Amino acid sequence: MRPATQAALSAIAQSDIRQALGLRPIVNASGTMTVLGASIMVPQAVAAMAAIATEFVEIGQLHAAAGREIAQATGAEAGFVTASCASAITLSVAGSMTGERLLAIERLPDSTGLRNEVLVQTGHLVGYGASLQQSIAMSGARVVTVGTVSGAQPYQLDEAISERTACSVFVVSHMTVQYAMLGLEQVCAICHARGIPVIVDAASEYDLRGFLARGADIVVYSGHKFLGGPTSGIVAGRKDLVRAASLHNRGIGRGMKVGKESIAGVMAALQAWQQRDHAAIRAGEDAALACWLEALGPFDAVACQRIDDPTGNPLQRLRVKVLPNRGWSARSLADALAAGDPPVMVRDYQTDLGFFDLDPCNLHEGDAQTVARQLTACLSLVPPGKPTYR
Ligand SMILES: *Cc1c(COP(=O)(O)O)cnc(C)c1O
Repeated sequence: MRPATQAALSAIAQSDIRQALGLRPIVNASGTMTVLGASIMVPQAVAAMAAIATEFVEIGQLHAAAGREIAQATGAEAGFVTASCASAITLSVAGSMTGERLLAIERLPDSTGLRNEVLVQTGHLVGYGASLQQSIAMSGARVVTVGTVSGAQPYQLDEAISERTACSVFVVSHMTVQYAMLGLEQVCAICHARGIPVIVDAASEYDLRGFLARGADIVVYSGHKFLGGPTSGIVAGRKDLVRAASLHNRGIGRGMKVGKESIAGVMAALQAWQQRDHAAIRAGEDAALACWLEALGPFDAVACQRIDDPTGNPLQRLRVKVLPNRGWSARSLADALAAGDPPVMVRDYQTDLGFFDLDPCNLHEGDAQTVARQLTACLSLVPPGKPTYR
């Protein structure tokens, strides 16, 4: 890194940049959320980004190096880096429609004459701040739904395949319907028998190898979630499909361009992930859960329980059920925490069910204690009485 860059960086590191920008110094007990700034970037990624920021590179060579890194980390034939997982979905779908035909690539999102239908189970049509359906449709493809939110049957996928089918997209996430959907092996067996590739959206999944091993042709991840990389996406999989997807950088992918700093940053994050002491991190997360359980113990307005991650990531959260008729609702307690000093953001997307979760995977030193203190402070207040609804 150039000395001037280093000096500027350490000046910023001395203070909390949020104050200078007029931002609230929030504590994240919510998990990896785009609206909260995703994750804590690992120092290796920050250093790599700063080091490459001032240098010129041959971008094609940098992309190729990242591809080798991704292949090594995932067991894939090939890989490439995108601006985000959402753009990885768009470009992977685009690649499945065009192959390596450059004129077709330049013509998208006009997909006239191409295989342009994408099969997705209805229960997999999630939203991650934007909708999966739109990320697919941006390529010029059209989503063909399979089954209902109550279930999908093998024949419903099989008979939906036609000469217009480009690929199938399979989502692994806590946000999908969690029962009666077709499993990955089933989808791969049905699609592969008809020559249709399967793209797996595993944006938030820690498992870098399993989905390809189970038959996926392409798997896409977020670089800025569990990996602690910069805002970016990772595409890994079959060489021809990865190449076709990456060629869209000269077409619809231009508006989703990833820069040298993000490519270098996510490469460093991938390397760091493989060297990380996962057991120590898990122990730190367990200690946070224990700290919160102890803080909440005296309060009869809440009942707490450790819960496993719904898709099997090696991560537990603390579910805080807010009991009725004690003045608080899950919503009003979450709102009170977010309005505190410092503001504590909890995992609050299910408050309509009477609970929120506390997520320990994005905490700085001392944050667990701050969260415990704020929980105690809020619950010691006279509750607002009437629940507020959002
Ligand atoms: C977060 C997420 C995305 C979007 O990822 P970005 O990298 O933020 O674009 C897509 N799919 C799922 C299942 C996600 O959880």
